[in-house]
Amino acid sequence: MILPMKNATITLPYKSQPPAGINYEKGYHSGIDMVSDERAIYAPVSGTIIARGHDPQGWGNYVILRSGDYDLIFAHLQSSNVIYGQEIKEGNKIGIMGATGQVTGAHLHFEVRKRPWNLRNDVNPAEWLGIENKRGPVTEIKKKAEDDNVDKLVIYADGDIGAALTYSQAHGIPMVRANEDGLEAVIKKYPAKKYYLIGFKGQDTPERKYFSGKNRLETAKEALNS
Ligand SMILES: [Zn+2]
Repeated sequence: MILPMKNATITLPYKSQPPAGINYEKGYHSGIDMVSDERAIYAPVSGTIIARGHDPQGWGNYVILRSGDYDLIFAHLQSSNVIYGQEIKEGNKIGIMGATGQVTGAHLHFEVRKRPWNLRNDVNPAEWLGIENKRGPVTEIKKKAEDDNVDKLVIYADGDIGAALTYSQAHGIPMVRANEDGLEAVIKKYPAKKYYLIGFKGQDTPERKYFSGKNRLETAKEALNS
């Protein structure tokens, strides 16, 4: 898997509301928009070109690449160098970024749908590519703890970072903050065999150890003395 453009910047994330004067069939942006000074567009994965056309009211010049269970749509192209039925290898150049169709400026509209594409079952293309679904230079999604083989993880509540940092460094255990998503969401996101929960009340289990004092200092002492 590669990204469809090199050194790309996302200008409109997936599920964004439409900009003024633009209509989306699904009521939200069903792809991601990206731009790059290099303008060349590459196949992120191998597949077959199953459609190639021109839609002046919408996608402009577009191609659709089928790969496994997914159909990838590349829209608003200035030009494309592929033909219907062509077998494409990952990394092959398939077109040039342009401003054809319903656009306010040159960009690539990249969309991923479960096949067949005409059923409009769009999926989050950023997630599919392994990048963050947000405006700005493309950044890769941080690998989950599972992928990094993390056995133990310190999770700390707001305000208890000092205690967490000391504990983390003393025991060589990575740490993450439980933000507004809440503790259980963080645990789900970062699977580990054992958690050290600093600043949370709860019952110790073989998988979870809680450190929570009357105040931050007491929490810190508890964590440090354990
Ligand atoms: Zn778009």
